[in-house]
Amino acid sequence: MIDTRNTSRPTDSADTKSPAGASDQQELLRRGLVRVSIAADGLDPLLDKRLKELRSALRNDAPPHLLTELMPELERAVLAADSAREERMRNIGASLRTLVKQLQQRRLSGEVGTSLKELAQRLNAPIEYASTVERLIADIASSQAQVLNAAPGEAPSGLLARLFGSGSTPGVKKTAEEQETPETPETPEPIIIEQPATSTVKSEPDALIPELPAKQEHSIDSSAEKPDEDAVVGNLGGEEQQYSKAAAHIETVLLNLISELQVLDSQRIQTEQLRERIAGGLNWYELAAALDELALLVLGAQQNRQQDFELYLKQLNSRLAQFQGNLEEAHDAYTGSLEVGRALEGTIRDQVQDLHGEVSSATDLDTLKANVQSQLDALLVNVEQSRTLHLDREQQVAGRLKSMVDRIATMEVEATTFRNHLEEQRKQAMIDTLTGLPNRAGLQKRMNEEYERWQRYGGQLLLVVLDVDHFKRVNDQFGHLAGDKVLRLIAQQLSRRLRKSDFIGRFGGEEFVILMPGTSIEHAAVVLEELRAGIEESPFHFKKERVTITISIGYTDFRQSDSLEEIFERADQAMYRAKDSGRNSLVRAD
Ligand code: GH3
Ligand code: MG
Ligand code: MG
Repeated sequence: MIDTRNTSRPTDSADTKSPAGASDQQELLRRGLVRVSIAADGLDPLLDKRLKELRSALRNDAPPHLLTELMPELERAVLAADSAREERMRNIGASLRTLVKQLQQRRLSGEVGTSLKELAQRLNAPIEYASTVERLIADIASSQAQVLNAAPGEAPSGLLARLFGSGSTPGVKKTAEEQETPETPETPEPIIIEQPATSTVKSEPDALIPELPAKQEHSIDSSAEKPDEDAVVGNLGGEEQQYSKAAAHIETVLLNLISELQVLDSQRIQTEQLRERIAGGLNWYELAAALDELALLVLGAQQNRQQDFELYLKQLNSRLAQFQGNLEEAHDAYTGSLEVGRALEGTIRDQVQDLHGEVSSATDLDTLKANVQSQLDALLVNVEQSRTLHLDREQQVAGRLKSMVDRIATMEVEATTFRNHLEEQRKQAMIDTLTGLPNRAGLQKRMNEEYERWQRYGGQLLLVVLDVDHFKRVNDQFGHLAGDKVLRLIAQQLSRRLRKSDFIGRFGGEEFVILMPGTSIEHAAVVLEELRAGIEESPFHFKKERVTITISIGYTDFRQSDSLEEIFERADQAMYRAKDSGRNSLVRAD
């Protein structure tokens, strides 16, 4: 009997959320199924119902305590199936008892009588195992053969003639050989005399037919009992009638046994042939062979059924595992789609309900297998369809996602282009279009940067303010375009004469600002003087007239605790002082 307590114990302490707990459940189910398959020697609807509930619980990822609750129910189902099996065994036992009783009616003494007595005693005890049935039938067959071989003295030769006459020649020969063994000392002469007579005088198979009238004669001689009403038996003598009556009972018992037997397809033809042979009437020898054959069928059916049932459970288990896997995949895939998920759930619930109904109503293994199999196929098809649907959806989403990614990539490119464009524009916005020098915005930006750098690292930094002298006159005298050209030429002069590290910007109008990092104020005086002189000496020609352009310069160094405004103001003031001092000059701030 199955002990489910051991199998249910581990789940008590299992963590419901941990992956190890989930695998324990699966393992638990598998072990439960296998154990039940070992114990169950036949299919029981209730047992399958319980197994189904267990599978369902597992499929729905039920917590361990639910599985633990299901286990006692499974055990009860197994107990019920076991009771049914015991009932079948009782029936078989009763049938075999009848069979032995029929043989005992022959009232044989000696070894045969003892064997039959022992058999009867053994049959009084309940039959527990299928293998016992096989042994019992084999022993009964053996005893039956002994009854035949030990053919008591009172058995008339007519009986044997009838038996051989309805049987086949090889069967007769075989029994004759057995008869020659020293195991049966009491064996009376009729059997020995009759058989050689049959086999030697009538050696050809069709010689059996002329023997039939002889049987008729014997039947007239022996009639200790009242005649049977049966057409065939009615013609027989007393002993034959007695046997014939017993044979009819034995045949009925055997036919009942066969109908009790749940044979597989592979055994069906053999079983049917045996049934026909028994139904058609058997002589003693044929009966012995039939009993042997039946014993083998019982044993084979039991073994085959066991293997078949185990195989079936294994297949069922793997199908369920596959189904569960698909379901989980589908479930994961449809997490984002509640509506589709609910539809899938509903369909699967219906199909599981159908499966439940099929299992409950099934009465034999083959029908149940076929039904469960087709239901599982339907379930798998459903899950497969859902998966296909999901794949389509996923492809759509993937397509949309890809177009979104493409669009984002395009937008990124556009954004980069736009950013570059903006940067360009920003740069352009800080460039003076007339001179190509940084304008006031550019100048302001650079002044801030240089100021911060100077604050952080210190060092020498100068700021120069430069203004064209009497520029208004240039405009007035030569026009604005000429004035523009002067501004461009001055910008070129400044760029050419200063270092690359110096920064020149057009502050506005005809006023420029220069930042000179890394330059001492003394050195700057020299450089700026050269610049002033260089501008003054530059050959500006207007309408072939040479015009002298001069500039006034104010400059200062960056000093500790200066603000940028203060520095600029100081340089600007210095430049105005240069104007005040007559222009075309250079003034260093105080
Ligand atoms: P000062 O020596 O005192 O600086 O006299 P100034 O004439 O240079 O100074 P003022 O501020 O009186 O005149 C500056 C003139 O510069 C006025 C304006 O028309 C002219 N100006 C400013 N920007 C431009 C420009 O981009 N192009 C031209 N052609 N003239 C400009
Ligand atoms: Mg000026
Ligand atoms: Mg000015």
